Amino acid sequence: MNPIYVDFLITSYCNFKCDFCSASAPNKKKEIDLSFNEIEHILKELDSLEVLRVAFEGGEPFFKKRFF
Ligand code: SF4
Repeated sequence: MNPIYVDFLITSYCNFKCDFCSASAPNKKKEIDLSFNEIEHILKELDSLEVLRVAFEGGEPFFKKRFF
């Protein structure tokens, strides 16, 4: 059974540091962030699975260049 809804955390970076959030955890490495091509590939796979709704989250999704 395919998912109908996906929360997609496209970056772990954020301009805020909320105490309760994993996005503000120390010792994060840039290498763990997905590249644009990886994100594009995942979105195409979600499309092929006919996922109805994708929510973009992070961190701050607008930090990703080419987000729009
Ligand atoms: S992702 Fe949201 S909750 Fe987490 S640090 Fe950023 S603003 Fe705060």
